[in-house]
Amino acid sequence: MSKVKNNEYDAADIIDIISKNLNKKGRIKGKTKKETKALIAMCVHHKKNKNGKVKATTERVNGRKFIHCTMCNKTINGQLASDEEVAEIMKRPLAMIEQMKFMAASMGADKETMRFVTTLSSLNARAPKVYRDMRKIVEKKSHLKNKKTNRNQNASFGGWRNNA
Ligand SMILES: [Zn+2]
Repeated sequence: MSKVKNNEYDAADIIDIISKNLNKKGRIKGKTKKETKALIAMCVHHKKNKNGKVKATTERVNGRKFIHCTMCNKTINGQLASDEEVAEIMKRPLAMIEQMKFMAASMGADKETMRFVTTLSSLNARAPKVYRDMRKIVEKKSHLKNKKTNRNQNASFGGWRNNA
């Protein structure tokens, strides 16, 4: 399944691929262990239902502060992070990536490894801005939703895509 390896598809494609690779219990299952692992890593915690509508595959856990995905079994923070919190969270992966770049250069790593570590570095450096842009959209949508339904703001961002 070469499609799993290339990162050249949009959300609809990923949701489609994942929706087609679920076992009877609704867990992600590829044809091989490797494929299952790749699909789990890609999971966007939404699937297509019988009518082709995109739905979140999540449930609220830990006093509704976290979201658990029933397809990939990952638990996600259900609260949006501020810019300061994002900067704090990103410190650790960024520090690890700096170390990886340093190790790669000092060992004279091949082109593929160099490309991997430098791409990882630039993508992670861009992540806070992308997070901020997405958070703005989510906040705006949940604000509109809360206005309509009179629900507690910040109660949920899961499902904003379909319900806003
Ligand atoms: Zn998931």
